[in-house]
Amino acid sequence: MSTSSTPRMIAALAAVSLIAACANDGGGGEDGDAAGYPDQNITFIVPFSAGGPTDTVTRMIAEPMAKALGGKIVVQNVEGAGGTVAAGQVARAKPDGYTVLMHHIGMSTAPALYKDLGFKPLDDFATVGLVTEVPMTVVARKDFPAATFSDLTTYVKANAGKVTLANAGIGAASHLCGLLFQSAAGVKLQEVPYQGTGPALTDLVGGQVDFMCDQTTNTTGQISAGKVKAYAVTTPERVKSLPDVPTTTEAGMPQLQVSVWHGLYVPAGTPPEVVTKLSGALKTALADQAVVDQMAKLGTAPVTAADATPEAHKAHLEEQITTWGKVIADAGVKAS
Ligand code: ASP
Repeated sequence: MSTSSTPRMIAALAAVSLIAACANDGGGGEDGDAAGYPDQNITFIVPFSAGGPTDTVTRMIAEPMAKALGGKIVVQNVEGAGGTVAAGQVARAKPDGYTVLMHHIGMSTAPALYKDLGFKPLDDFATVGLVTEVPMTVVARKDFPAATFSDLTTYVKANAGKVTLANAGIGAASHLCGLLFQSAAGVKLQEVPYQGTGPALTDLVGGQVDFMCDQTTNTTGQISAGKVKAYAVTTPERVKSLPDVPTTTEAGMPQLQVSVWHGLYVPAGTPPEVVTKLSGALKTALADQAVVDQMAKLGTAPVTAADATPEAHKAHLEEQITTWGKVIADAGVKAS
């Protein structure tokens, strides 16, 4: 599959697909032998549906990473519980570098949201590197009766009993953004959880749900095509690819600020040499012009080479767990 595929094309693909097939003729090595790594397929686990934003970013970098590693990468979608099912699966996987998790900000919000998470983000994984930080958009079905963000807020407050807010489950970025919106607006809405915002956006376009937050990596195409209404972006600055969409600060809700950072993880205990190889391949992929261009079209950019490292990723994860832990505790939200 080419990195120039659009998210909609990707959505049409099977949940499991072979990303690259550069034969490794390096003589392999024993299972778990870092010198021979990789000598079998590497599986990248995406914790949400195929065709959604996390899936899109994963598939963008999988092919150039596979090339850099001289191996094969298979992308697999393991859905459920706002990304925590996949994270738990990877936490328990063999620490040999052949199971890699792509996750986002949800890795830092889950500990505050779930009483029995079943894994510890800081203890059960080795961080590989940050990938990208993606703005979110607040979008609604195209016939939603609100012209501006302030109209949207007024309307949902007046119609709280009937307005539906889609998300990708408790722990998802869309859930967090919806939580911040409701808290800032002082309203409690009926939430409709999906296995990912790929299918949620499909339902938004179809008019089955009213509004939601989602990454620009998923919404840009539908906004540009006029299939959904965009009210605001959740970043301090406007997004270049969506120049007409105001920021939440411009739109009167500065409290609604969230950028969806993504990172790669392997199970704790993975040989450091393997983590170094994966991190090196990540840096190569993020410097690939096709990846840079594709991300720019979707409102984002790769992180710097310094941030695509295990150390920078770990420091960011620690800081984000503290930050979001406080926000979630103040909001009084729990999944179980
Ligand atoms: N954007 C989703 C979220 O709300 C996840 C996804 O489908 O990628 O976290």
